[in-house]
Amino acid sequence: MRREDMTWQYGIKGNDKGRVRCNFCNKEMGGGVYHIKEHFAWVKGNVTGCKEVLLAVKQQMLKIITDGKRKKVQRERDMEEVRRGYKNPIDEDEDQEAEFEAQIE
Ligand SMILES: [Zn+2]
Repeated sequence: MRREDMTWQYGIKGNDKGRVRCNFCNKEMGGGVYHIKEHFAWVKGNVTGCKEVLLAVKQQMLKIITDGKRKKVQRERDMEEVRRGYKNPIDEDEDQEAEFEAQIE
């Protein structure tokens, strides 16, 4: 089961595309699965926090959101460093392989 599917235990798709309804408070919102996660987790910006959500669900959703953001930031930072020339993973790997081969000989 994909992680996203868990969200549909607590929310249902609305009649219009991209709209979802919260199973706890019956609030309907746009923005699809991302916004309903923020609604459960009380992440400010796009939607209001759910007043009826279970604490366990709130914490679970918050973890999913923060984990996802951390991975995205890390990936962007790696790409930025490669672009600036701070880091060149391909060359590093080649060096290590060359050293390894030299040791065998
Ligand atoms: Zn709600």
